[in-house]
Amino acid sequence: MNLANTKSVSYYNNIGQIQGAYVREYPDICPSCGKGISAVPAYGFKGKWLQVVFRCPIVDCSRLFIAHYGESDNNVVHFLLRTELLPVVEDEEFPASITKVSPKFKTIYNQSKKAEEGGLEEICGLGYRKSLEFLVKDYLISKSAPKEIAVGAKCSATSMNSSALLNGLFSKI
Ligand SMILES: [Zn+2]
Repeated sequence: MNLANTKSVSYYNNIGQIQGAYVREYPDICPSCGKGISAVPAYGFKGKWLQVVFRCPIVDCSRLFIAHYGESDNNVVHFLLRTELLPVVEDEEFPASITKVSPKFKTIYNQSKKAEEGGLEEICGLGYRKSLEFLVKDYLISKSAPKEIAVGAKCSATSMNSSALLNGLFSKI
């Protein structure tokens, strides 16, 4: 068998033993910055498939990504199927005037953003709406003590009914 044009990686198997494998190629394009790279394997794992963590050597990028390999017909040399970049979602920053009035708004908004970036589109919409509800409610509470009682009562009575809550709140503005 000709292994001359192959590269090697080490990986952990299912019971934690370090083993070696041959791969046809290392990824030559970083999935984050898109530049051509000489990727260096950092860590491998083989269960059902061989997965190897690489790091982009370009200093300004330096992102980690996972290369997925399939086995060739001879079950010795693995070939590159695809690379996968784990999403990094940075928190959205808001002016202090907003986070001071409603700290929950920022928390819920950023959790919704992570859900959206992770492809959970049905979930993130509910989260964004909830964050808006908190922002409006907290704003009204901060502006008027008498409304705090009214809004608080409305929230507890209709916490599962966001439409009614929003309609109630906006009718008070
Ligand atoms: Zn890169």
